[in-house]
Amino acid sequence: MAREQLSLYDTTLRDGAQTQGVDFSLEDKLLIAEQLDGLGLDYVEAGYPGANPTDTRLFGESRPMGAKLTAFGMTKRPGRSLSNDPGFQALLAAKADAICLVGKTWDFHVDVALGTTLEENLEAIKESVAAVVKSGREALLDCEHFFDGYKANPDYALACAKAAYETGARWVVLCDTNGGTLPEEVEAIVTEVVKHVPGDHVSIHVHNDTDNGVANSLAAVRAGARQIQGTLNGLGERCGNANLTSIIPTLMLKTDYAERYETRVTPEKLRTLTHASRILDEVLNRAPSRHAPYVGESAFAHKGGIHVSAVQKDPRTYEHVPPEAIGNVRRLLVSDQGGRSNIMAQLDRIGIAVPKDDPRVARLLEVVKEREAVGYAYEAAEASFEMLARRLLGNVPQFFDVDSFRVLVERRHNALGELVTVSEATVKARVDGNTVMSVGEGNGPVNALDMALRKDLGQYQRYIDDLELVDYKVRILTGGTDAVTRVLIESRDGEGRRWFTVGVSPNIVDASFEALLDSINYKLIRDGAPAP
Ligand SMILES: [Zn+2]
Repeated sequence: MAREQLSLYDTTLRDGAQTQGVDFSLEDKLLIAEQLDGLGLDYVEAGYPGANPTDTRLFGESRPMGAKLTAFGMTKRPGRSLSNDPGFQALLAAKADAICLVGKTWDFHVDVALGTTLEENLEAIKESVAAVVKSGREALLDCEHFFDGYKANPDYALACAKAAYETGARWVVLCDTNGGTLPEEVEAIVTEVVKHVPGDHVSIHVHNDTDNGVANSLAAVRAGARQIQGTLNGLGERCGNANLTSIIPTLMLKTDYAERYETRVTPEKLRTLTHASRILDEVLNRAPSRHAPYVGESAFAHKGGIHVSAVQKDPRTYEHVPPEAIGNVRRLLVSDQGGRSNIMAQLDRIGIAVPKDDPRVARLLEVVKEREAVGYAYEAAEASFEMLARRLLGNVPQFFDVDSFRVLVERRHNALGELVTVSEATVKARVDGNTVMSVGEGNGPVNALDMALRKDLGQYQRYIDDLELVDYKVRILTGGTDAVTRVLIESRDGEGRRWFTVGVSPNIVDASFEALLDSINYKLIRDGAPAP
């Protein structure tokens, strides 16, 4: 039997960005979009052009990828013409493949929040969708508060959905904006909606306020919806959005869904899910949830003699799906098999070939464990992992040595009598048998140190001229008085390639210095700089 196609729509970068404490930079957004695209999602909703400078820049140039890059915005304001609505015009100007418009479908909201008539709101929906279609882009209508609206006035909510579909919207998105609807209600309401709008034009977008985000999405699919919207790791305001990190493996690994539906996520891509989930956490500077279904560190961890021995005989005794399917690993407290296959997978990803039984793999695993115990995190900092692996497995040339450095931070009055804080760093290094002293100034100690370190590296200077630090994240790992600092640095070269390195120390300058050194050495190795 041919399987039906399900479309997957990610809104981590828009809805997820509304989470308290989340503030994506443009670089963060591009990195996450790359992960989402790599997973095989159909749509990546990346932001709200015109609403903030980051999103305006993001949509200011075309960014080709496999997924449809989608811009989000409001339907036109009631009582204004389209051409006289700057917000709407900014949206139309976005370099996007699809545009998702949010419109009101709950009569109570139309009246109270919008202060307009039901007819005028319906007209605004039609005109806005038509304008997007006319611009040659795919149109989606987010029916805000659809389920609450349907309960209050089913005819009006349906009229809005039908109007969007009939005007040419590719998807009519049924939103449970307040997140309070239960699975049986979602199933019943979607069953009614698909009598008016074909299911392959109906999308579900739910929030997780009763912890039913995943269940509600699946209920909508059973009732006929053929697109699911959600976020990576369930990121989203309040209690989060429907969690795609749980929905995707459920669709692919659970027989009832796997036999009936297919998505663009291949089994091979599914194996990158755990990695994508952890990268998002590292970009957000958060500790991953150990107990996250499918991708959490504890999702396949077995403790206790009977469980462990049963799992060793046949993993199906205590595992509902094989961890490898989502790129996670089994953790048994009696063996390091899980850790070893994890390391092998990482080595494979960065292209280092080594036999599995090579004793140096066991040594590398030991070192990684020791370092992770003191605060290193290698999931995103792959360049640091690669440097560590290369040092232990082969030989990384000692391109240069840093004998010492000194950083001064001075707060004083300048010639104009203004209070300023300046940083100055001095680095003493040995390159090509010569000792060089370099001085750098910067707006902070790390910046000054970076300036000094990269000022004169002799024959290696030309390899690092195009190196640029694009992002710098600091995380204080709790531990009371012996708290340590983890620094994650993102670097970029002239060809736009990006890599991450990590440093850990009780001292923030030391941690930064370690990450800087890894970044420079990584670039020298990758670009084939000659050994001294
Ligand atoms: Zn939402």
